[in-house]
Amino acid sequence: MELNPFIRDIPDFPKPGILFKDITPLLMNATAFQHSIDLLSIQFAGQKIDAIAAAEARGFLFAAPLALKLHKPLVPLRKPGKLPYRTYSLKYDLEYGQAELHMHVDGVELGQRVLLVDDVLATGGTMAAGGQLIEQAGGTVAGCAFLVELAFLNGRAKLPNYDVFSLLTY
Ligand code: AMP
Repeated sequence: MELNPFIRDIPDFPKPGILFKDITPLLMNATAFQHSIDLLSIQFAGQKIDAIAAAEARGFLFAAPLALKLHKPLVPLRKPGKLPYRTYSLKYDLEYGQAELHMHVDGVELGQRVLLVDDVLATGGTMAAGGQLIEQAGGTVAGCAFLVELAFLNGRAKLPNYDVFSLLTY
């Protein structure tokens, strides 16, 4: 099944010059959504993965069903002020300005192999920050999985030590 028709291009969102890859048509088609999770789970089923981590908000949409399918713990990476327990945190640079990501200190245990999941790989800044949080906790990044990769932004360059997999590349 082709997933490409379920990714909608929205020009100039959220600001002029950005071509936004809208995954909501895929979410609204249960067959396509299920297929995307099946493909991701096939890719990682044979690998040693102890947990799945994802950054809010759209990363959760794919990480949660994948975690259930692979029967692994799900670790949310969130913006400041959202996680109630003690956290590791990391500030990182975006194209314009800074962002910050938090993870509960008990989200990842020493030596655990963690798969990072997000909907879109753009500049790679979010995933690189997620990887650093996992490493702060003593874990290892088992891989990074995306639905969509915007290859022209060269996000992989920010993830040189990680195994990067995407279902669709533009
Ligand atoms: P990144 O630049 O890789 O750190 O991307 C940050 C987040 O913004 C990712 O989680 C993506 O979901 C989202 N994002 C960035 N650029 C786009 C885009 N062109 N279309 C859709 N989502 C995007």
